[in-house]
Amino acid sequence: MKDSDIHPVVRILRREIPQWKVPVVGHYADDPFTVLISCILSLRTKDATTQAASERLFAAARTPQTILRLPLKRIEKLIFPVGFYRTKARVIHGICRDLLGRFGGRVPDTIEELLTLKGVGRKTANLTVTLGYKKPGICVDVHVHRISNRLGYVKTKTPEETETALRAKLPKKYWITFNDLLVTYGQNLCTPTSPWCSHCALRRYCARTGVSRSR
Ligand code: SF4
Repeated sequence: MKDSDIHPVVRILRREIPQWKVPVVGHYADDPFTVLISCILSLRTKDATTQAASERLFAAARTPQTILRLPLKRIEKLIFPVGFYRTKARVIHGICRDLLGRFGGRVPDTIEELLTLKGVGRKTANLTVTLGYKKPGICVDVHVHRISNRLGYVKTKTPEETETALRAKLPKKYWITFNDLLVTYGQNLCTPTSPWCSHCALRRYCARTGVSRSR
């Protein structure tokens, strides 16, 4: 697609997305801490499982101080069956300790500082900054990486390269919403294997790069 096609593409995505559910992390957008923790829970885990686990955990505790008061076993129980729940319980405790020890209990608002927290990668850091603090950032996960390449908007091999490419060319006004739009589209229509190209409203703009099989 041409670079200028990004405007109709985003317009169409905004029109199409409301028919599906917003990714679960978006539910906690009023508080950077809950965005951060639910993003950790969501890694390698289905949305419905993440949502239920986040709700159970945040009903029991939703600040670094109160989560630290919960024994690890209790956290494991609350977040089960998210993927790697034992590791994630330890990661969450570690993050809470670190937030209290180094940041006065406050979630940092820069990607660089967030990346110093153990267990926080670029995806989590970007989501926390964009959703939690409404600051510019582009969260690139597998969906954003895949669809940006399929569209022909970027030509990259890894999500990290995609983030760099998008920072260079995606108009800033789209940075915050881009992840929500593409994750939802990627979960429902432009799926990893065999996307629904015959139903896709973006088809006239899409290069369909790398798509060998579609429905
Ligand atoms: S046309 Fe196919 S590959 Fe392109 S965005 Fe739509 S579903 Fe994805």
